[in-house]
Amino acid sequence: MKRVLITGGAGFLGSHLCDRFIKEGYHVIAMDNLITGDLKNIEHLFKLENFEFYHHDVSKFIHVPGELDYILHFASPASPIDYLKIPIQTLKVGSLGIHNCLGLARVKNARVLIASTSEVYGDPNVHPQPEEYWGNVNPVGPRGVYDEAKRFQEAMTMAYHTYHGLETRIIRIFNTYGPRMRLNDGRVLPAFIGQALRGEDLTMFGDGSQTRSFCYVDDLVEGIYRLLLSDYAQPVNIGNPDEITIKEFGEEIIKLTGTSQKLISLPLPTDDPKQRRPDITKARSILGWEPKVSRAEGLKITYDYFKSLSKEDLFRMAHHKEF
Ligand code: UDP
Repeated sequence: MKRVLITGGAGFLGSHLCDRFIKEGYHVIAMDNLITGDLKNIEHLFKLENFEFYHHDVSKFIHVPGELDYILHFASPASPIDYLKIPIQTLKVGSLGIHNCLGLARVKNARVLIASTSEVYGDPNVHPQPEEYWGNVNPVGPRGVYDEAKRFQEAMTMAYHTYHGLETRIIRIFNTYGPRMRLNDGRVLPAFIGQALRGEDLTMFGDGSQTRSFCYVDDLVEGIYRLLLSDYAQPVNIGNPDEITIKEFGEEIIKLTGTSQKLISLPLPTDDPKQRRPDITKARSILGWEPKVSRAEGLKITYDYFKSLSKEDLFRMAHHKEF
C-alpha cells in the first residue's frame, strides 16, 4: 500500500485530497495544526485503518515513522481575511513548512507536490495567465505575506529538484470552491452564500468589475492527482477558465439562493487583482486534464452543502477560531 502525507489535511482542499487518496487505496496520513482546518472535514475517515491524523504544525520539525511515497504540502491559510489575521504563520508555513517537507522527502525518498497559487501572478498584466508569466506582486502589501511565501515555496521546491534531484511537482491553483469551505473564511463564495442564508445583503467589494474564474473542487483534485503521477516538474496551472465578474457572480448567487437581498458595494481591498483566468494549455496537453463541472452544477452542490449544515455546524463554522 502506497503511503501519502497530506499537510493541511483537515482543510478544505486537504480533506478532499484525503478522500481521493483513500478511494485510490492509499495509506493516508493527514497533518494539520487546526488553525484554519477543521476535524469535522475528516471525522468520517478516523474509523479507517489506512488513515492517520497528526495534530502538528508543519512549520516545526516533522517526524513521520515508516515509509512515505508522496508528500502533498497543502497547509496554509488561503483566504485574504485569514492571512491578514495571521501573516507570520502564513509566511512560516510557506517557507519553514516547505523546508521541513522537502527535508522529510529526501529522507524518505518521497515525491513532493506543493500547492502554489494564481497569487504568484499578483495583479496580472498578462491575461489569461500562462505559467511563463512572472507576475506582478507587491511584496509589502497586505497580500505579500501569502504571495511571497508561495513564490519562495516554488523557488525552494525547484532548488531541491535541481540541487538534490528530488522529484517535485508544482500546481498553481486558481480560485476553487465546493463543500467544506469555511463559512467565515472571507472568500467571496462562502461570504455571499452565508449572507444569503442569513438574509443579509451581499457585500460586493468595489464596483464588482474585477473578474475571477471558479473551479469546482472535484475537478481540481483530479488535476492534482494527474500532476502527481506525471513526470512534469515545472509549474502547472489548474483552474477553470470560465471567467466572470464578481458582480455577475453575486447575481448568480442571488438567483440560486432565491434571496430577496441585494448586492451592496464596500471598498475594494488593497491590491485586489482586477482580473484572473488560467491559461490551461499545459494542463490540457501534459495531463490531458480540463474541468468538467460547470459553475451552475458546482454552485448547486455547494449551496446544498451549506443548506444541509446543522445550526450547530453553522455556529461552529461562523465562530471557528477567531484568531
Ligand atoms: N469579494 C467580494 N465580497 C466579499 C469577498 C470577496 O466582492 O465579501 C471579492 C474580492 O474583492 C475579490 C473576489 O471577490 O475581488 C474574490 O475574492 P476572494 O477573497 O474569494 O479570493 P481572491 O481571488 O481575491 O484571493
